[in-house]
Amino acid sequence: MAQDKPHQNLAIIGHVDHGKSTLVGRLLFETGSVPEHVIEQHREEAAEKGKGGFEFAYVMDNLAEERERGVTIDIAHQRFDTDKYYFTIVDTPGHRDFVKNMITGASQADHAVLVVAADDGVAPQTREHVFLSRTLGIETLIVAVNKMDTVNYEEDRYREVVDAVKKLLTQVRFDTDDARFIPISAFEGDNIAEHSENMSWFDGPTILEALNNLPEMSPPTDAPLRLPIQDVYTISGIGTVPVGRVETGILEKGASVSFQPSDVSGEVKTIEMHHEEVDRAEPGDNVGFNVRGVGKDDIRRGDVCGPADDPPKVAETFQAQIVVMQHPSVVTAGYTPVIHAHTAQVACTVESIDQKLDPASGEVAEENPDFIKAGDAAIVTLRPQKPLSIEPSSEIPELGSFAIRDMGQTIAAGKVLEVNER
Ligand code: GDP
Repeated sequence: MAQDKPHQNLAIIGHVDHGKSTLVGRLLFETGSVPEHVIEQHREEAAEKGKGGFEFAYVMDNLAEERERGVTIDIAHQRFDTDKYYFTIVDTPGHRDFVKNMITGASQADHAVLVVAADDGVAPQTREHVFLSRTLGIETLIVAVNKMDTVNYEEDRYREVVDAVKKLLTQVRFDTDDARFIPISAFEGDNIAEHSENMSWFDGPTILEALNNLPEMSPPTDAPLRLPIQDVYTISGIGTVPVGRVETGILEKGASVSFQPSDVSGEVKTIEMHHEEVDRAEPGDNVGFNVRGVGKDDIRRGDVCGPADDPPKVAETFQAQIVVMQHPSVVTAGYTPVIHAHTAQVACTVESIDQKLDPASGEVAEENPDFIKAGDAAIVTLRPQKPLSIEPSSEIPELGSFAIRDMGQTIAAGKVLEVNER
């Protein structure tokens, strides 16, 4: 794997059955990311059964199998290269917790490919995912109008779908100049790696060209260290080892760190990454580390580790902008759902609904409304029922977004505007 290339996290979003998995399979296949011996083996099997050209189907089967096994979501596992970048697909498309993971940052992506089937056009999850990408700060959106083979590769139909998607993007104030539109067939391989002869009317880039042309993201190394704790282990010979992913800043051996909201601190003794000891870790690195004087019962999942002189904020209350995606009735003051933010899950009470916003313009539509419902955007004040570490999105976006869950569903997505510290 060419690790020396800059890295990009890519999300593949869009309505169910519009072809996300097929596109992922196609990308892995066209970039040679499926081991040759695996393809070879399948080629032989296919030849025996009298079916040629089966390699691509093989990739698809493999992906489907992984999905059935419920592959862990926190670990990036689908990788491919273009000339300039190496890409990690940050989620298994179709995973049931995809929306939650996208919001809490487990699937934090810099860019996204929105897949819209040419026959169906814009569908409910197209809308939901575009909404979320906007709220969660996706930098660039590539819109793949898929299944062009099912509409005879017709330019007119492509234009219709593009217009509908543009309208949707405008609604959520996504700059349509920043989106790139490409007609494809993930299944047939049109406009993925090579320009399709079936759509000579299209003179834009292929999917791989568009991916290769994405702007380079700089990792948030300048921000203060924020490392949400996923688990805490005891390892013989070392002691207490919290593990997690560095979201922002640098974790360094010898540094004084503080864990919040547990409110304990100490000096970093060792850092381990991929079973090797290292002196420092950067954003995106998954690490286990040991801190002098911090015991197993002192800290827990949901704590955030930061510099002792710039510790993670702990909220007494916080104000947030939320978008209600689904709710059987209405949200009123007093409602107490569970907030999922980074690795924390804390019940929070809606203390007040401060403003309802016009989703199209973002302007205030109503002051202090009595309730909000599905489809509404609003500014609310939330009071955590147990200490919660969270940051204003304007300061540390990686720690500033959250999902509101209730009854096993993602009710809303939110972005922290202000933290009133304890
Ligand atoms: P997902 O739910 O978005 O991941 O969708 P899948 O990738 O599982 O695709 C759903 C169905 O659409 C499958 O039966 C695919 O074979 C089919 N499909 C995906 N892409 C294309 C395409 O470009 N053309 C055609 N005709 N079918 C496609």
